[in-house]
Amino acid sequence: MNILIMGAAGSGKGTMSKKILERYDIPHISTGNMFRSAITEGTELGRSAKLYMDQGHLVPDEITIAMVRERLKKDDCQRGYLLDGFPRTLGQAIAFEWISAAIGKPVQAVINLTVNLDDLASRITGRRLCQKCGAIYHITHQPPKVDGICDVCGNGLIHRSDDTIEQLAVRLREHVIMTRPVLDHYRNLNLVYNVDASRDIETVWQDVDKILANLR
Ligand code: AMP
Repeated sequence: MNILIMGAAGSGKGTMSKKILERYDIPHISTGNMFRSAITEGTELGRSAKLYMDQGHLVPDEITIAMVRERLKKDDCQRGYLLDGFPRTLGQAIAFEWISAAIGKPVQAVINLTVNLDDLASRITGRRLCQKCGAIYHITHQPPKVDGICDVCGNGLIHRSDDTIEQLAVRLREHVIMTRPVLDHYRNLNLVYNVDASRDIETVWQDVDKILANLR
């Protein structure tokens, strides 16, 4: 199964992606997570990406496309992929047409999580993340059992440095400007499924699951 998941920062891409990979056993490839790991590991890729991410800006296409191209060559992608946060620009989408054709895995569906922009501020500023296992929490809506500690693996939780009101404004502006043409591109190919992600997690998941089950 070859799937893209799209949506603004805080729309729940990470949460839905976790559920999709549990149910459908396809690799979850999040470009944001890949950049964050590279920053933690202190690689050259991480140092380049950090310059942009800290400002809430997109990492340049050449860097991002090369990273995804390499990732998709790995064996686990024989089962397909769930790409989360890529492509985010029209340039990435066009490059991805070539990459996905070369590995014989064209996109089957684009899940577009829509959410009321007013809800995003509280979702983003209250979000906490386990960097070890990727579990996502919210300080009021979905708190961990022990404050600051991941329920799943016991690691400390972090507040992403770009999860602030100021960075959210920049990220949303970039999202609207850069990502709209990407969605239009996939709409023209009749691949987009809009899902109202302002509802509770289980209701959103039921809709996403139904869409994916029908692709099989
Ligand atoms: P995310 O975890 O998807 O919210 O991404 C966090 C940050 O990583 C973004 O604000 C960008 O700086 C960078 N990033 C992630 N994916 C991409 C992409 N496809 N293109 C450019 N930058 C990206």
